[in-house]
Amino acid sequence: MINIPKGTKDVLPQDSYKWQYIESVARKVAKDYNLKEIRTPVFEHTELFQRGVGDTTDIVNKEMYTFKDKGDRSITLKPEGTAGVARSFIENGLSNSPLPVKMYYVIPAFRYERPQAGRLREFHQFGIEVYGSASPDTDAEVISAAALFLDRLGIKNVRLNINSIGCKECRTRYNAQLRAYLLPHLDEMCETCRSRFDKNPLRILDCKEEKCKAITLDAPRIVDFLCDECAEHFKKVQEYLGCAGIEYSVDPNIVRGLDYYTRTVFEFVSGDIGAQSTVCGGGRYDGLIEELGGNYTPAVGFAVGLERLLLLMENTGVGFPEDEGPDVFFAGMDDDSRKAAFSFAQKVRESGCSAECDHMGRSVKAQFKYADKIHAKYVVTLGGSELESGACRAKRMSDGSVYELKFEDIPEFFKKLKEQ
Ligand code: ATP
Ligand code: MG
Repeated sequence: MINIPKGTKDVLPQDSYKWQYIESVARKVAKDYNLKEIRTPVFEHTELFQRGVGDTTDIVNKEMYTFKDKGDRSITLKPEGTAGVARSFIENGLSNSPLPVKMYYVIPAFRYERPQAGRLREFHQFGIEVYGSASPDTDAEVISAAALFLDRLGIKNVRLNINSIGCKECRTRYNAQLRAYLLPHLDEMCETCRSRFDKNPLRILDCKEEKCKAITLDAPRIVDFLCDECAEHFKKVQEYLGCAGIEYSVDPNIVRGLDYYTRTVFEFVSGDIGAQSTVCGGGRYDGLIEELGGNYTPAVGFAVGLERLLLLMENTGVGFPEDEGPDVFFAGMDDDSRKAAFSFAQKVRESGCSAECDHMGRSVKAQFKYADKIHAKYVVTLGGSELESGACRAKRMSDGSVYELKFEDIPEFFKKLKEQ
């Protein structure tokens, strides 16, 4: 037998309604914020991620699914959504459309990681990207979309942490201070952090190793090194979050340490899903489009990991709407009435309702059992006397009530129910 690759998961027929539900809530939130879906390829040229995610990141350094295609090009399965969207924005001249350009995506993403709860090699993200506005209300709107999404799913108990990592100038001043603080502790830190020290010390604040966390606890805080404009921007983001009624805390240790990340960074964190506690990460990346060869275009966005959300919902007993069964099951007793069941099922479907009949040669009794198992809302039984009289009974399974129906009225009966 051939098994599923490590770190991937099947979504089985009995569970897919949960995914469809989460995705439908995501799409509704996107619509309510006037975000339009953008679809980009599952694979891109490797260079896009090296430049667009950054080669000091774990994603690019350790986690990418990279391979040579038959034309000897280096191709990578997308490890995240932003780089592809940014490429498409530039390539398709989207900066010429009315600004801001507000987009969202629901995608699979691929990272070669050590699989564990909430950490997979193929996982899924709902993300939004807003390009063209540098103004702090946009940051607050993006954050509020993530908050509304979590809220609509019924997820409580997530905390929003925000921070500002300033602009290049703030960061240059801050990095010098941070290096001076960290230097005496360099030997005590993990190997990755030691390598980050020169290239990108900010990312040390992001380290998950306990020994590094302990050292950075008293490190200087970047919010204390913001230039006037960045400080003002951060203040305004918080004011606008207040206008949207969004609760948050400022956490000076959140960073998204890429060079083109600027100003606002944020995370939604849960205490209910173990070590992989970040369900949503986002921020502003005003330098990204230029980094990829476009004209300066400020941008802000987030990505939510859908597996972690699902885990969170399951762990905390947040309910899903029930998976619906077919509107009607037509049971047939003999050859002729089975054909009638088959053709009524077809007619009902043509009128826009869902219908099912037996495909396993079951006895009538077994058909009733099956109809019950698949949660059919109504059962119509057909036999010799029904075919003779041209009328039948539809039984509502929820309360046993019975409706007399002429054959010609069957599709209309179910259609009307649907419209109620
Ligand atoms: P982490 O610190 O947990 O590795 P990250 O910083 O790498 O997260 P992002 O790149 O910000 O994550 O991705 C956004 C979201 O995507 C995360 O908050 C998480 O919910 C989800 N995510 C990231 N990597 C994985 C993965 N390997 N499996 C499942 N979900 C993931
Ligand atoms: Mg990661």
